[in-house]
Amino acid sequence: MSPETLVQPSLSIPSLPVSTADFDQYVMSTYARFPLTLERGAGCRVWDTDGREYLDFVAGIATCTLGHAHPVMIEAVTQQIQTLHHVSNLYYTSAQGNLAKWLVEHSCADRAFFCNSGAEANEGAIKLARKYAHTVLGIQSPVIITAHASFHGRTLATITATGQPKYQKNFDPLMPGFYYVPYNDIAAIEDAVALLDAGERQVAAIMLEALQGEGGVRPGDVAYFQRIRDLCTEKGILLILDEVQVGMGRTGRYWGYENLGIEPDIFTSAKGLGGGIPIGATLCKSFCDVFQPGDHASTFGGNPFACAVALAVCQTLEQQNLLSNVQARGEQLRTGLRALAQQYPDVIAEVRGWGLINGLVLHPDAALTSSDIVQAAIAEGVLLVPAGPKVVRFVPPLIVSEAEVDQVLQAMQRAMVG
Ligand SMILES: *Cc1c(COP(=O)(O)O)cnc(C)c1O
Repeated sequence: MSPETLVQPSLSIPSLPVSTADFDQYVMSTYARFPLTLERGAGCRVWDTDGREYLDFVAGIATCTLGHAHPVMIEAVTQQIQTLHHVSNLYYTSAQGNLAKWLVEHSCADRAFFCNSGAEANEGAIKLARKYAHTVLGIQSPVIITAHASFHGRTLATITATGQPKYQKNFDPLMPGFYYVPYNDIAAIEDAVALLDAGERQVAAIMLEALQGEGGVRPGDVAYFQRIRDLCTEKGILLILDEVQVGMGRTGRYWGYENLGIEPDIFTSAKGLGGGIPIGATLCKSFCDVFQPGDHASTFGGNPFACAVALAVCQTLEQQNLLSNVQARGEQLRTGLRALAQQYPDVIAEVRGWGLINGLVLHPDAALTSSDIVQAAIAEGVLLVPAGPKVVRFVPPLIVSEAEVDQVLQAMQRAMVG
């Protein structure tokens, strides 16, 4: 049978409507969902099953880089599925090679390993750091220092890396080999390295987010990260940055670390990398690329489908100069939210963020929580996501327009009144 006979261009796969009650009967209840069933998206907008329109300032949590139904993604998906969508990593494919090349040419890394998610990318980074510790540093019991309020994923190793007990509760025994310090605290990290070096366990790596996303949209301090970079270089230990949420143009630069004037030895990417197609990557400098054939693998990782779409997203980011849009729209959003903060000084403490990852920070003693504000915003046709109980996060697609940011600011005015 020729490929032409197989292709049915007008075929569409309708999805039968499902009630939220049915959904909850059949799907495990790992998420507290808003009572909305989303059906369709275009650009920065999505529609629910009642036909209500929302401005999507969640974007799959900083994932839909190009928004919904972007023509470039439609074309990349269509072309690649018609050409070759999956083969094993037993073989070479151009799509994986070209994506790795783009990432290396647009970052400080020399090489990439592909997987399917942020947690998996961080698992790869942790394994790489441990192997480097064993084989290069001669450390028998390597420790990775991470930060309080961090978030690195939901696998056992990454909930252990995550410095938040709420993600670890009832899942012990956790993974050995992690040690936690407060974020943005230079003295604490110096003490931790000294303490661990004096004991029998030794520090192999420090793993941080350039800006803590889930932990409350908390940007890293430049002086803190520069001290850590020096400390890692002095001690020969690895600096790992989790760029899963802030990478891929989210901050107005390709990578979060560019805002800090430093380079990591290893970094991870996922969320925005495929624009909503599942893909993750662990990237590293060549000196610490100690993986050899058989050390690490992933069946779906780097398949031609995900890689071709991710490459199309990367090229669009570059060719359409989206970084300057991210910078301008981020300024516009922060300016508007700061005006709102001045109107409600008893409720809003601060507005902080980089590019298009911004947090509206509520006073710790304000009666309102971030969920209250998110609920009120939904009623005004805007989707937002909490980053902890007192921070409302704004992470729209990077293609968001000036008019759309204005609309969201107006809706926030109404939401605060209501
Ligand atoms: C979302 C996130 C992860 C986990 O990514 P998954 O794809 O959900 O596994 C890891 N680190 C950071 C910083 C994240 O924001």
